[in-house]
Amino acid sequence: MKIAQSEKMFEQAAKVIPGGVNSPVRACRSVGCTPLFIERAEGATLYDVDGNSYVDFVCSWGPMILGHSHPQVVAAIRAAAGGGTSFGAPTPAEITLAEMVVEAVPSVEKVRFVNSGTEATMSAIRLARGVTGRKKVVKFDGCYHGHADSFLIKAGSGLLTLGIPGSPGVPEDIVKNTISLPYNDVNAVTQALDDEGHDVACVIIEPVAGNMGCVLPAPGFLAELRRLTAERGVLLIFDEVITGFRLAYGGAQELFGISPDLTCLGKIIGGGLPVGAYGGKAEIMDSIAPDGPVYQAGTLSGNPLAMAAGIATLRQLQQPGFYQELNDRATRCAERLREVAKRCGLPVQINGIGSMMTLFFCSDPVTDFTSAMRADTGLYAKHYRNMLSQGIYLAPSQFEVAFISAAHTPHDLEKLEKMTEWSFKNLAD
Ligand code: PLP
Repeated sequence: MKIAQSEKMFEQAAKVIPGGVNSPVRACRSVGCTPLFIERAEGATLYDVDGNSYVDFVCSWGPMILGHSHPQVVAAIRAAAGGGTSFGAPTPAEITLAEMVVEAVPSVEKVRFVNSGTEATMSAIRLARGVTGRKKVVKFDGCYHGHADSFLIKAGSGLLTLGIPGSPGVPEDIVKNTISLPYNDVNAVTQALDDEGHDVACVIIEPVAGNMGCVLPAPGFLAELRRLTAERGVLLIFDEVITGFRLAYGGAQELFGISPDLTCLGKIIGGGLPVGAYGGKAEIMDSIAPDGPVYQAGTLSGNPLAMAAGIATLRQLQQPGFYQELNDRATRCAERLREVAKRCGLPVQINGIGSMMTLFFCSDPVTDFTSAMRADTGLYAKHYRNMLSQGIYLAPSQFEVAFISAAHTPHDLEKLEKMTEWSFKNLAD
């Protein structure tokens, strides 16, 4: 595989962009590769600047559930752009997308649009602190909620991949108000809330974790969280930046039948444009300025292009049977990969739900951060390079999710299975 142009561009980029990338995991350091510079993408295929093509299982880290350059989404963006790209004033499209989100996500009565998942989670915890008058935030080890100061403790993939425990520049005074607990550990949550519940504003969780690789909530775990928080006046926040409109139209909360107080969204609701959102019960959301005292604002929030892309994407997701078909195909694919692993005798765990999955190189089940950390990252790096050489584009980190989109054809999934078998045999030799 020739990647001379990507190599040249990476050198050029590194002169003017830190590490040559605008988000750290893209640098591909943990898998020992030069990042590929992408020229264009269509459906499930990425084309790099050297003319190579790849079947894409990163899907822009989640947003591209319809695949790339979906004709309806592109047409909606073009039409919106023709009418102006930003007004700093309310627009009809914001109402349409807000109504769609409120209708889709069971616990959301009102929603505020922002520009990224990080802004959504950061604003949601400010709101939780504002309405409860409490300071502390409970999160879970290995969950990532964006890069706001309060969340940069045991915060999943990006930091894990680079071996960074937290981040310099985050004052001790801020992180001392964040309590990070083991995922799926009800006892730890009970203990923490018994000890400090009076001072805890919210518990924030990825209802299915996607940032230590895919880790499912143990049966009953989310229901217990709902009960424990409600009993103590602590707000429960579901960070559905990945799972929202991914696992089901109403997200993980629809799938598991749990109603959080606040929900954070991003990725899919922007159809590939920069967007985030946070929403919840009206009585809580009414505390946000200008109705209430909790301040949050944004020059480009509710941007007309992002709204248009989001509306066009959600309209496609409303097609009858969309999730059934996507999830069935992805589940069958995960099952076939498990069979491949068994045939090759490699110690591999495949965690998956709906169209999300992670292949961990370890022999024991992965149920939390500690068990995820047992995965062999060196083996993953070799597997990554094998797959890339065969035109399969996986996330350049063991601790990420592979996403299946509606654009992946049966042929794409067969290619994934075939190349996985080839790579596993190569690794086993
Ligand atoms: N929350 C979750 C669960 C995420 O996976 C991410 C990003 O990957 C974020 C929040 C932050 O979103 P963004 O990268 O748009 O700031």
